[in-house]
Amino acid sequence: MNGSPRAAVPVLCYHSIGDVRRDGTLRWSVSPGDFDEQMALIRERGRTPMTVGGYAAVLHGLASLPPRPVLITFDDGFPDLAETALPVLLRHRLTATAYVIAARVGAAPLPDADPSLDWDQLRELQAHGLEIGSHSRSHRALDCLRPAELHQEIVESRQMLEAVTGTAVHSFAYPYGYHSPAVRTTVRAAGYTSACAVKNALSHSGDDVFAIARVLIERDTGVAGIEALLQGTGRPLAWRGERLRTRGWRAYRRARQLVHTARPRLSHPTS
Ligand SMILES: [Zn+2]
Repeated sequence: MNGSPRAAVPVLCYHSIGDVRRDGTLRWSVSPGDFDEQMALIRERGRTPMTVGGYAAVLHGLASLPPRPVLITFDDGFPDLAETALPVLLRHRLTATAYVIAARVGAAPLPDADPSLDWDQLRELQAHGLEIGSHSRSHRALDCLRPAELHQEIVESRQMLEAVTGTAVHSFAYPYGYHSPAVRTTVRAAGYTSACAVKNALSHSGDDVFAIARVLIERDTGVAGIEALLQGTGRPLAWRGERLRTRGWRAYRRARQLVHTARPRLSHPTS
């Protein structure tokens, strides 16, 4: 694009499509009307929708990038993905990747927790061509876990999803976007071919396939924000490797976890 050797690949990361607070805030809930407008824009701009599995093949050098690619992803598996987002995606002939939290699918929500879609809804997404990926077993910050816990979150979640969908699950997304060398090694060894991070940057053909850059779409991102991302502006191209700031933040959270055994309440970044 614009003669640049590396065209920007926007990988959009949505959470809820609705007007309901999730995790106590409306920030990650895009209103259905706005979502429809954003998907219509993607279609009008002649973008080629890809699943993360398809894009991973490009990053592995096994396929070439289609013209004007775009990726739409959803994290956390809220019921409105099947009830509200799916009909809009189908109407605009778009596909997406749904990263679900395996132990929450079909389970009664815990007190104060948001509901999840059920197994029938998951199979419905799959039947309409959406890719189902793992967003771990129970959505813990993986970079603070011991190896046995990592195995549960990464390997067992894949087995749970494959048992129900009857299809291989190739794609993983790190809860909160947090990863570390140990986390990435476990993801690779488990047989995933890609993993999505957050980064709030645009991906490109040289991106790290086990830390694919995504941009969080917020309630106020709006159609203008999506237009800027499609034009490759508004966000930098992704870097490779971890930034020092990320490492320092993890050290802080690990230290804090030694003191507080409860599930950490993490406010930044989210995913
Ligand atoms: Zn998440």
